[in-house]
Amino acid sequence: MSGEDCESLDKGDSDGQKPDKMFTLKKWNAVAMWSWDVECDTCAICRVQVMDACLRCQGESKKDSYGKQDCVVVWGECNHSFHFCCMSLWVKQNNRCPLCQQEWSIQRMGK
Ligand SMILES: [Zn+2]
Ligand SMILES: [Zn+2]
Ligand SMILES: [Zn+2]
Repeated sequence: MSGEDCESLDKGDSDGQKPDKMFTLKKWNAVAMWSWDVECDTCAICRVQVMDACLRCQGESKKDSYGKQDCVVVWGECNHSFHFCCMSLWVKQNNRCPLCQQEWSIQRMGK
């Protein structure tokens, strides 16, 4: 009966290898944290993340009659960001940033 001997040897071996694996996992997490650090703001007007399409565009894309319609993001001088669609409707009634009430002027647009 040599099977019993083999089993006890195996257990000791795998225990020694575990700490090594933990180290590689920790390194990976640090890298993931970095890319997550990109600003992930929410549009204060429709409450959808600005990197996603706004509520209106999400609804309209279901019809698909205009083909692909990109929902761009605008940043104001105050560094707040919103969907361009939401903001262009907002400024018709109130030309101020909905978050900080500064006069709204576009700093840049894009994705
Ligand atoms: Zn929006
Ligand atoms: Zn939109
Ligand atoms: Zn603002």
